[in-house]
Amino acid sequence: MFRPGPAHREIVFLTGSGLSARTGMGTFRGPQGLWALEPDIEVAMHAERLPGSLPDLWRVWGKMAKIAVGHGPTPGHRAIARMGAPVITQNIDGLHQAAGSEVVAELHGSALMAVCLGTECPWRMPVTPGEGSRATDHGVPELCPTCGSPTRPNVVLFDEMLPEQALEMGMRLAQRADLFVAVGTSGVVFPAAHLAPLAKTHGATTVLIDIDPPQEPAVRAAFDHVIAADAHDVLPEWERAANGVGRSSFLDPF
Ligand SMILES: [Zn+2]
Repeated sequence: MFRPGPAHREIVFLTGSGLSARTGMGTFRGPQGLWALEPDIEVAMHAERLPGSLPDLWRVWGKMAKIAVGHGPTPGHRAIARMGAPVITQNIDGLHQAAGSEVVAELHGSALMAVCLGTECPWRMPVTPGEGSRATDHGVPELCPTCGSPTRPNVVLFDEMLPEQALEMGMRLAQRADLFVAVGTSGVVFPAAHLAPLAKTHGATTVLIDIDPPQEPAVRAAFDHVIAADAHDVLPEWERAANGVGRSSFLDPF
């Protein structure tokens, strides 16, 4: 099985919902995903439904944030943080930061942050996730203290632009990687579908770790190596090898 070697000094990870699935948040796509189980929520995820969809958005993303905070980072998140690698993530659960990762490009925003519906308004504050469909259920005022517009979770909805700064950072990271590793993302959705080929064009070795990797030839062509395994087994092993502990988990505090 592929493992990083001494030639891989700049490892960059791209992560998706598969990495956080064991927290109980589940995934979004697929037959057991949120969109299939709660079709009303998929409707509420369209930006054109704002502001009427705010109660649904607070209820769902507040609950997701609560599950994430309650569970904490997975072994995969912790291994990535201890490798000191920058992360580009499609996840909105804040678990990379909770694990100690310092460079995290959040392409889809964060359920742990509230922002203002007023597009030009810079107001934001951390969420204290709870249960319920009102902003105040999650420690956030209903109306922005700066401009009076309603507040919302800082999660990117369908039809909304990805946050420019995070996207630019993600592209920069992909271009300078010498090892680009996609974990727990199907690799078929933008921007995941573009970042691995971008990294490869700039000379990176590209790896996909997924317990059930996609079979589409076009997806697999973007990766030099496809590892069909649980990232929570693979990544801690990579991290131990990188830090010279070998295969022993004796010194592993987790
Ligand atoms: Zn405002």
